[in-house]
Amino acid sequence: MPKRVLVVEDNELNLKLFCDLLRAHGYEAEPVRDGREAVSAARRFRPDLVIMDVQLPHVTGFELIGQMQADPVLGRIPIMAVTAYSSHEDEERIRAAGARSYVAKPISLARFVDQVEKLMATIEDVDADAAKTPDPREDPAR
Ligand code: MN
Repeated sequence: MPKRVLVVEDNELNLKLFCDLLRAHGYEAEPVRDGREAVSAARRFRPDLVIMDVQLPHVTGFELIGQMQADPVLGRIPIMAVTAYSSHEDEERIRAAGARSYVAKPISLARFVDQVEKLMATIEDVDADAAKTPDPREDPAR
């Protein structure tokens, strides 16, 4: 099963770029143009990862990240924020909102894909069978 990525981005060119890039790397990408639909789309699509533009009309990415974090199911999904903000304070604010990762615009495609793959690597693979190697974080001796 390909991993699923919900992409929330109001800019049509960026939305297409992100979705094309994700699909080229074997992910299933679901575009969301209107931030007001992001939470319901996440409930419906059940993504493994959410890519969230911070600057959206009607609702900010900060608010959406907060709403998802407050939800018992959606709160477990990692969020990668994408933003034109670039100061250290902005990055702190994005992380404080609950985003696990952050990529600044203009987007470096290599960094974008690298961050997606890093976040995917942190996700428990529910399709994996019992033969998988034990997660060292589950070591009771620690
Ligand atoms: Mn935007």
